[in-house]
Amino acid sequence: MDEDEIVGGWSLVHCSVERAGKKSRPLGERPGGMLLYTPDGWMSALLTTDPAMALAEAATEAGVSGGTVAHAGRWERTPDGTVRHHVAASHYGPWVGTTLERAVHSGPDELLLTASTDEGARRHLRWRRARARAPRAPVAAFPLTAPPHRRRTPRSPSPFPLSFRRWCAMRTANLGDRLVLVHDDGAVDVEKASHGRFPSDPQAVFDHWEEFTAWARTPAAPEAERIPLADHLLGAPVPRPRQVFAVGLNYADHIEESGLDTPAQPAVFTKYPTSLAGPYDTVELPSTMVDWEVELVAVIGARAHRVRAEDAWQHIAGLTVGQDLSERRIQLQGPAPQFALGKSFPGFSPTGPVMVTPDEFDDPDDLALGCTVDGETMQDSRTGRMVFPVAEQIAWLSAICPLLPGDLVFTGTPAGVGGARKPRRFLAPGEQLHSWIDGIGVLRNRMVAGPGYPDGPSV
Ligand code: ZN
Repeated sequence: MDEDEIVGGWSLVHCSVERAGKKSRPLGERPGGMLLYTPDGWMSALLTTDPAMALAEAATEAGVSGGTVAHAGRWERTPDGTVRHHVAASHYGPWVGTTLERAVHSGPDELLLTASTDEGARRHLRWRRARARAPRAPVAAFPLTAPPHRRRTPRSPSPFPLSFRRWCAMRTANLGDRLVLVHDDGAVDVEKASHGRFPSDPQAVFDHWEEFTAWARTPAAPEAERIPLADHLLGAPVPRPRQVFAVGLNYADHIEESGLDTPAQPAVFTKYPTSLAGPYDTVELPSTMVDWEVELVAVIGARAHRVRAEDAWQHIAGLTVGQDLSERRIQLQGPAPQFALGKSFPGFSPTGPVMVTPDEFDDPDDLALGCTVDGETMQDSRTGRMVFPVAEQIAWLSAICPLLPGDLVFTGTPAGVGGARKPRRFLAPGEQLHSWIDGIGVLRNRMVAGPGYPDGPSV
């Protein structure tokens, strides 16, 4: 067996993965991995010792390609003659990164390879040529049926099996303008822990999101040195998005309190990026008419253009808490309302305190959220009550605008805003606005009088 035969040749093989002295068996019995070729050399493979993970990924392959291999990677020969293949077995975010490094001759029907993994480990992988039962390439003969969770709709309880979630769930934050992974016992500086593989800039990571998540989910990342997650250093987890979308009138009770009709499509406006603020920042009030709107904020992790709602979650890197602070006079005055300006004073878009990957939630489509002013509850609802769920918002926005990695989508606010109260109530200097979403955290923003207070801007 030489490398030419590897590149050109095997039709169906299955692999076993040796790890910690234990061998896993091929997918379908006890999932451990699979390897498939088509005549042009395309292949798909899975390398994992987590049965739930393997099942989920394999089901993805089967579902996407109807049982044949659509894509996932390609063998290539590097200038030094090494045969490599990057195994990328993922269609909805989480993935396993393994690079097969070197072929070792091991007999006509067996192949031994060395592989390095994103965990930094080096493994031997052994493949056997399938014998009599092997179909000719292209092949589709792996014994898989999609488990029920693959037949999900965007509103299903969870696309991820429990063990899969635990394996993948991840929180990031912006600590003093540096990207950190957040663990229960402290933060890990990503640039340092990855030895410069990923930049320190919290915004830049979204251009390498898939690669980053693969690294962050390896043991090396969580085992790195801890630093304190100091509140006063926390900034917006996504500090410089290229686009910030926001959706209004997206909870039935908020539509009712606003006295407006339910829109046929999501009602979209923007909050300019200069309005972003950190989770604990002080907000300068420009006038006496600044209102609160707690919102779930979705962070785009992969470019989304003309995506279907059922695929939308695959394009979301994570979720965070947002406040869509709104100066109601500017917002609503004039013949055409000025939503974008009224909601874009500096500090009017606090976000944070962390960004959480969607797989951390039992149901990312039904999270409790609310806000308090000086301890008094103003809003208290669930994102499950949205008129247009997150996935439908992404589908609608992306039908028109390509959504770019690191963009934000403010997804609407439930009932309880100050402008709809009788009498109306707005934020005053000295008040503490706390905004929370279960499973993500709390924004704590103190209001102070800004330069234009109390009259606000005029021209
Ligand atoms: Zn809003």
